[in-house]
Amino acid sequence: MWNAKGGSTAIAPPLLRWYDRVKRDLPWRRDPSPYRTLVSEFMLQQTVVATVEPYFARFLARFPDIATLAAAAEDEVTALWSGLGYYARARNLRRAAAAIVADHGGAVPASEAALRALPGIGPYTAAAVAAIAFDARAFALDGNTMRVLARLNGERRPVDLPATRAALHGRGLAEVPRRRAGDFNQAMMELGALVCTPRSPRCEACPLAGACRARADGQAESLPRKRPRPERPVVRVVCACITDGARVLVVRRHAGLLAGTWALPEAADRGARRRPALARGLAEAAGVRVAGVVYRGAVRHVFTHRDVTAELFRVDVDARGPAAPSGDRRWVSPSALGALGVSTFARKTVALGVGGSFEK
Ligand code: SF4
Repeated sequence: MWNAKGGSTAIAPPLLRWYDRVKRDLPWRRDPSPYRTLVSEFMLQQTVVATVEPYFARFLARFPDIATLAAAAEDEVTALWSGLGYYARARNLRRAAAAIVADHGGAVPASEAALRALPGIGPYTAAAVAAIAFDARAFALDGNTMRVLARLNGERRPVDLPATRAALHGRGLAEVPRRRAGDFNQAMMELGALVCTPRSPRCEACPLAGACRARADGQAESLPRKRPRPERPVVRVVCACITDGARVLVVRRHAGLLAGTWALPEAADRGARRRPALARGLAEAAGVRVAGVVYRGAVRHVFTHRDVTAELFRVDVDARGPAAPSGDRRWVSPSALGALGVSTFARKTVALGVGGSFEK
């Protein structure tokens, strides 16, 4: 399609030769069934390979096929996702499995269009699954492949503009070979992960160096460009670690990025003087009789889109009895928290609240 002077050349042959030589032995590349590909592509959204590997193994051991996942309780799926972040993916993956059983006889559909109709599947995942699992001529544009394409093509427009993304997707798609479409996609991802890295790309080891416009122009490190990011909003909350001495009270979240996970009750912070009363109020709203409220410190957690600081209070429960559990409220011992779906942020708050850490 292009070369360093802006002319045309095919990148698939040298890229596939390089991929055959250096590709990593990843769990989802062994026995790459459509189901395993689907699970891995959900997990790999916004998440690096090294983080995903142990989660993938545990998930496949518990849910070895679509039918098992479709029949699972949401809590169990979210629990196996604990710590992986972006919890909507877990809920959507389970819902996608249920739709595949209901509408496709339990077989992952092969076309990009049918895949995109499933819950939680956007253009990237649909293209990746269609190409990798079914060798369809599709192109998956993610952070890695976009960076490679932007550099190869010397693209100077910001890549977070929809028009730039569409142009790069078109260029990528035009390069997908008739055979080995799945390997081509994985090779582009691999090149972005191993060689054409965000900082210090290793152009001297790149199989596409001769066709790369950014390298020829000495622009490899400064591409791709992005528009300046708006600052992350800072969010301050008060958290109540309500405890009877052995267990803590957790509630299910219903909104936001962490919806479906379990966490300590929290409320918007209204200033230092009102925090103890807020923590007490959280406990009383849960039906607990309060024996004492103690400040434990602050927990900060930086999410992709917000920077959260929780002022944490331990609220000791009167021995006359804690509130009864309900569908959205449970008493758990800190060591048993791993059996529920809990975020890394929730783990940090419980650890500080009970005065120690605990196993995942
Ligand atoms: Fe990336 Fe360098 Fe290869 Fe160009 S030559 S694709 S900048 S690693």
